[in-house]
Amino acid sequence: MPERRRRERAVTGLSAVVGHRDVIARLRASRARGRLAPAYLLHGEDGIGKRTVAEAWTRLLQCRAPAGDPAEAEACGACVSCRHHAAGTHPDVFRLVPREEAATVAIDQIRELQAALPYQPLIASPRVVLIPDATLLRPDGANALLKTLEEPPAHALFIVMAPQRERLLPTIVSRCQAVRCSPPSQEAVIGHLTARLGLPAERARALFIQAQGRIGPAIQAASAPGEAAPPYEDVGAPSTIADAVRLLDLAQGIGKDQEALRGLLAWLTLWLRDVLAWRLTRDPDRVLHPDRRADLAWWADRLSTDDVLDLASGLHAVWTSVHRNLNPQLVAEAALLHIAQRVNAHPPRRQEIA
Ligand SMILES: [Zn+2]
Repeated sequence: MPERRRRERAVTGLSAVVGHRDVIARLRASRARGRLAPAYLLHGEDGIGKRTVAEAWTRLLQCRAPAGDPAEAEACGACVSCRHHAAGTHPDVFRLVPREEAATVAIDQIRELQAALPYQPLIASPRVVLIPDATLLRPDGANALLKTLEEPPAHALFIVMAPQRERLLPTIVSRCQAVRCSPPSQEAVIGHLTARLGLPAERARALFIQAQGRIGPAIQAASAPGEAAPPYEDVGAPSTIADAVRLLDLAQGIGKDQEALRGLLAWLTLWLRDVLAWRLTRDPDRVLHPDRRADLAWWADRLSTDDVLDLASGLHAVWTSVHRNLNPQLVAEAALLHIAQRVNAHPPRRQEIA
């Protein structure tokens, strides 16, 4: 990992992490009680900040002079351990990530870890092993690691991370204290982008949508050059949702691309959320697409609150069943046509009371 990235991570204290308040409270409490498990499993979808939490907690665990009450404790940022963290040179932290250009963690990386870990800490205890995505361990690597997890050195602590714990060997999961991580709220992510990164509110909302609500990709996109909006954002236009041929074209554009399908479903969910917010409040500050008020009003006139909730729960069901065996294009077609049918079925409902 490039040094610049390490330094970036090094400046986030636990209190500055976006979201994850309950997880952080729990981790701080287990430190305060002096009752650390030998291994933790932080599980929750990619890009929501699990690693940021793990790195910040590691700095606190290894800090020689933590500041604040136990419930608010932070690494001091000045001791020898904190300085090594900031420089990316800490000898008591191990990170199991694929080598450059490799897709998975190599077995010899695990063997190297197993050779080094038993030695006493050089400057800070516990020696921490961070595994940012344990699904990138191959079966041979996972089995080798299991041996260490079964009999870890007393001075070692593992922080394993994964998008879903079901994707790990059950024997690894059973060795870890599982901690479920949820995505930070929309307010927290947008607040971070505006207050901490200084982005205008509209750009922050656009990034939030583009990143499907995940803070990691949103921050990355914030520093990347602007990209064109994906074609499915066009679905919000009345002329598009009324045009079945256009919708089938959009679905065809998704083809076999699972990620594009997820993007479409995430966008549709946020759009329906906006339609509902507009229906209930008519307040541009409450929607993610304030620039598309006219389109939102058009939808809000045609869908009842129940319609929107039905469609959203339908999308949620599709989302949870997205599986590699389903054809993404067909799933997209079905979702788009189902929504179109509902939107186009009713004359405007302007008179109805929300
Ligand atoms: Zn310190």
